[in-house]
Order: sequence, then structure tokens, then C-alpha cells
Amino acid sequence: PTALREIIFEKPKIGWADIGGSDDTKKHFDKALDWPIHHADILKKYNKRPPKGILLYGPPGCSKTLTAQAVASHYGLNFIAVKGGELISMYVGESERKIRELFSKARQAAPCVIFFDEIDSIASERQSDSSKGLNVLTTLLTEMDGFEALSGVLVLAATNKPDLLDAAIMRPGRFGMHVYLGPPNAAARREIFAIGLKGKPVEEGLDIDKLVDISDGYSGAEIAQICENAIDQAIQREVESEARTLCMNDLETAIAKQKRSITADD
Ligand code: ATP
Repeated sequence: PTALREIIFEKPKIGWADIGGSDDTKKHFDKALDWPIHHADILKKYNKRPPKGILLYGPPGCSKTLTAQAVASHYGLNFIAVKGGELISMYVGESERKIRELFSKARQAAPCVIFFDEIDSIASERQSDSSKGLNVLTTLLTEMDGFEALSGVLVLAATNKPDLLDAAIMRPGRFGMHVYLGPPNAAARREIFAIGLKGKPVEEGLDIDKLVDISDGYSGAEIAQICENAIDQAIQREVESEARTLCMNDLETAIAKQKRSITADD
């Protein structure tokens, strides 16, 4: 009990409604999580094992982290997050110890998600050439092999370089489900704008269709940034003049200035 008191769990407040375009994503998780949580007895009867791990992959800024958080909050799971890059930069032996500690904490906090962001920095073929990367990856896989599905620990991992991942991580019984989170389509972009501008004083009759149209190719993170920049511009105008609302021009300017990170390769 003394050890337990020291553990601090981040309880994500992000829900599906905060993620534009998440309607389809949501469905993937119902089978993987709703059944194991609410119908574990039926799954056992059919000897059906839900995935121990789920891989989220897709270009940068396309809601992998948000999705991991929404999964945890929607299904009432505790949430522990760690970045692959931080693990790999620790001293030799330290990263392995940290991974074992994470799993042990997750078991104590079950039902619990462990979220490995940037999993490619641990589990890329290139990294595993070095003995350090390999040791860290081996520790992670040993921990994953060491617990039973349905034990209340779920591993989520995210990457924007899925092709670099070591084959070992893809073996059955580990990351049994892969979810692609791609660039937002028109419907998703509409929702991301709505989320970004919610509760803000916007001009009447704002041409959302046009915004959706001209923001094709931007990631969710970039659209969220566009909204922030447009809001800043509206505030500045109001400070300096009689303007009272955020207008179309603020958004169009912000879109024109925003760089795109997603390329055709993604
Ligand atoms: P990376 O690969 O760069 O780590 P990621 O895929 O994990 O990115 P997130 O961290 O989930 O992306 O998104 C970054 C930010 O972008 C979020 O905090 C949010 O503000 C915004 N964002 C991204 N996608 C969406 C979306 N679909 N709906 C609403 N906001 C979004």
C-alpha cells in the first residue's frame, strides 16, 4: 500500500466528442474493448482472446495521442503514458527497469492502459541493430508475453513510421490490432473546425464549406493550430479597432500561412 500511494495516474479528460472524425475510429475499439470489459465470460466461453496491444499508426498530428486518451476515458481505464524516445535515452539498464516498473504499476491500477508514444524509437529495425534498442524491445515484449489477455492491462502504441517497426512486435499475441488514423476527410475537418471554434464569437454566416474545402491536406493538429491563429488575429483586431467577431478572413489568412506536414508518402 505504501508503494501504491506514490503512483500518480493521469486521468484523461478527452472524449470522442473532442476528436473530429472519430466516429469510425470508435467502432474499432468497441469490439476490442467493450466485449472484453463487459462480456469477458462470453469471450472465455469461446476461448476468444482480445488483443493485448493495439497499434495506432498514421501521419503526425492525426489524433493518435488523442485517440489513446479517449479510449482510456471512454472505457474507464487508468492511463499511463510514456514516450519511446525518452525511454531509449535513459542509461543502459535504466530503460528496462522503467518498462518493468510501468507494467507493474499498470497491473496495480488495472483496468489500465499503457500508452507508448513514438514506439518506433524502441521498436524499429534500425534501432534494434544496436544492443540497447534490442534490450529495451525485448523487455517490452517479455512484459507483454507475460500477462494474459483479459487481465485488465491494455498496451496502446503509436507511430508515424509503421514500416520501420521490428517484425517481432507484429507477431501474434502482441499488437493484435492495428488502427490507421489518416489525414482528416471533409467531414472530419468540418468537425475539427467546429471543435476549434466552439464558443468563440464568430461572424454570422461563416462559410464553413469553403473552410473545409481549402483545408484539404492539413492534419488535425494543423487545423487546430489554424483556429488558434485565427482567434489570435481576431483578438488583436478587436484590441486595435471596433471589430467584434472572428471573421472568415481570419481563418483564410491562417490557412494560407499554415505549413503542411503531411506528404503524399503518408
Ligand atoms: P504525433 O504523431 O505528432 O505525436 P498525434 O497523431 O499523436 O501526433 P495528437 O497529439 O493526437 O496527434 O494531436 C495533436 C493536437 O492536434 C491535439 O492535441 C489536438 O489539439 C489537435 N488534433 C489532432 N487531430 C484532431 C482531431 N481529429 N480533432 C480535434 N483536434 C485534433
